[in-house]
Order: sequence, then C-alpha cells, then structure tokens
Amino acid sequence: MGDYDPDNIFAKILRGEIPCSRVYEDNDTLAFMDIMPRSDGHLLVIPKTPCRNLLDASPEQLAAVMSTVQKLAKAVVKAFDADGVTVQQFNEAAGGQEVFHLHFHILPRQEGVPMRPPGNMGDFDLIAQHAERVKGALA
Ligand code: 5GP
Repeated sequence: MGDYDPDNIFAKILRGEIPCSRVYEDNDTLAFMDIMPRSDGHLLVIPKTPCRNLLDASPEQLAAVMSTVQKLAKAVVKAFDADGVTVQQFNEAAGGQEVFHLHFHILPRQEGVPMRPPGNMGDFDLIAQHAERVKGALA
C-alpha cells in the first residue's frame, strides 16, 4: 500500500485550498457533497486527520467517521424522503478507490431508482440546493 499523499484532493479541501459544498463538520470529521453525484444528495464523510483508507485508519478515526456517517445517513433520508440509503467505501485502486483519503459515500435511494453511472460531473447549482436540504434536515 502507498503512503498518505498530503496533496490528495480531499486534503486540499480540508486545508481550504479548493472549495466544497460543506454540509456538516465537527472536531474530527467533515461531510460535503460529491461533485459527481450518483444519486441526488450523494455526499462524502471524511476524517480531518490523514489516512488513506480503512486499511491504515485508527480505531479513533473510524469511530469518529462512522458516527458522522450515521448522522448524515439519517439526515439524507429525512432531506430526500428516501426509501433507503447506500453507504459505500473503497480501498486502494484495485478496490475502486480514486481519492486516497479515507471517505464514505452516502447515497439516499428511492425504491426502484438505480444509481447513476460514475464519473459524470453534477450541476453545481443543484448540488448546492441539495446541500441546503441536508443542512436543513440536520438543523
Ligand atoms: P472513490 O475514491 O471512492 O472511488 O471516489 C472518490 C469520489 O470523490 C468520487 O465519487 C468523486 O466524484 C468524488 N470527487 C472527486 N474529486 C472531487 C472534488 O474535487 N470534490 C468533491 N466534492 N468530490 C470529488
């Protein structure tokens, strides 16, 4: 496995070097909208401290992230009146990981509606509207 790259895109988001649609943060974690949403409301939860993925994360990082994952899973169900929620997490390139800072995908799901294919840039205005819905559900 490789080392942690401090110039990965999520590290840059954490340092404020590139923007994101932030929906929640606490001392240890950050949640923001995915720019290529595979369902309306698709968001990501990351630890604020460095780790590549599940394989090098500490129990403390995992505990903090999973607590936020649950909080945001409940929030997207409420915000999108979802029938369910998919949580995804990939490890190393062979496991489907593209950004090498631990992250969990949270995707609100509607009965019978498939996830969109990966790799398609979303509409920024719509993503911003969806971020506001999630923030409203958290309030
Ligand atoms: P994974 O590493 O789990 O395969 O996927 C990385 C995820 O990060 C993808 O869903 C992709 O759309 C998302 N992503 C990649 N670059 C950015 C970015 O600059 N900003 C945001 N918000 N999401 C990104």
